[in-house]
Amino acid sequence: MKINERFLELKDSYLFAKVGQKTSEYKLKHPEKKVIRLSIGDVTRPLAPCVIKAMQKAVSDMSKKETFKGYGPDRFCYGYDALIDSIKGSYLKKGVKLESEEVFISDGAKSDLGNILDLFSEENTVLVPDPVYPVYVDTNVMGGRKIVYADATEKNGFLPMPDKKVKADIIYICSPNNPTGAAYTREQLKAWVEYALKENAVILYDAAYEYFIEDSALARSIFEVEGARECAIEFCSFSKTAGFTGVRCGYTIVPKELIRGGASLSRLWARRQSTKFNGVSYISQMGAAAVFTEEGEREIRENIAYYKKNAGTVARCLDKLNIFYTGGKNSPYLWLKCPRGMDSWEFFDYLLENANVVGTPGSGFGKNGDGFFRLTAFGDADETVEACERIERLLK
Ligand code: PLP
Repeated sequence: MKINERFLELKDSYLFAKVGQKTSEYKLKHPEKKVIRLSIGDVTRPLAPCVIKAMQKAVSDMSKKETFKGYGPDRFCYGYDALIDSIKGSYLKKGVKLESEEVFISDGAKSDLGNILDLFSEENTVLVPDPVYPVYVDTNVMGGRKIVYADATEKNGFLPMPDKKVKADIIYICSPNNPTGAAYTREQLKAWVEYALKENAVILYDAAYEYFIEDSALARSIFEVEGARECAIEFCSFSKTAGFTGVRCGYTIVPKELIRGGASLSRLWARRQSTKFNGVSYISQMGAAAVFTEEGEREIRENIAYYKKNAGTVARCLDKLNIFYTGGKNSPYLWLKCPRGMDSWEFFDYLLENANVVGTPGSGFGKNGDGFFRLTAFGDADETVEACERIERLLK
């Protein structure tokens, strides 16, 4: 018996563990201090009332023989029509027409981003932006694929563009990006689509934060770009859109026109999902279906507006201090350059010790993250204001 030795090649994901450990140690040493966390990547607002109502109705359905649900419908890989139709409706508002067979319901974007790799040979070269959500790198290390990096830097506004000299078969794009908050315009994505078509590559487009986009030049879906249906798969989630991190529900769009090696990727994905996955709970799916109703949209927008107000508070603080940053406007993340030439962990310690504020060191997201720092808008509004006042006093 041999293990998959590639797991031994994975770097320890100590980033959040180390942030937590350093914070706990500081609190233990200074119990009188009020430490504020602007490092949270999870949502903190409760679910929208109409989502709760829909989930309560679904629970009640489960209690009666006539309305009880077992496994979900086979037809669309266990996705219920009500949810698939509501997702199609939300895409239509972005000018994107989808067929039901192209919408795959999942328990969240993370699982699908990892699982989709079942469809691709180990021989493919993968292009990953640096810095980025670490899941793309780790899942490809597990799969033994060669990884090349697209450098995201201050110079390109943390939005790398295709380089004709680089050959890649699978291309990851995360927009708005975690951790940098930077998001691509439709024009910029067009260049990526053209590059992918020329390379016969597949773009894996992570749109987990698309609901934070307000700027009309920015794309909310890669399928707003012509040609994307022939080269892209899109991963979406109710996690950050509607606070589903603890409920679990997402969706992946695999267009029918996406053919590689003579095979339809949407057919392969349907086969993969029906073999290794048994669907998302009826209760979660009914809650998710309520998100894109008129009432649901209004309610989730209120939560997003709450986070955006926090983002605005942090952005104003950084503006006053004349610190370079990306994100904040179309994203819950703000990505700032550490002041006074400090590296990411130096700034982490400095901020924790002198302002009692916790953030996330950028170096944990890739080599280009060093010297940068992530603050988030997912915290409490009053605490965010207080944290910014402290940061301003410390750094002015
Ligand atoms: N994609 C990105 C870029 C994320 O930052 C996250 C979570 O933080 C996810 C995907 C995971 O989303 P889900 O909760 O739907 O699995």
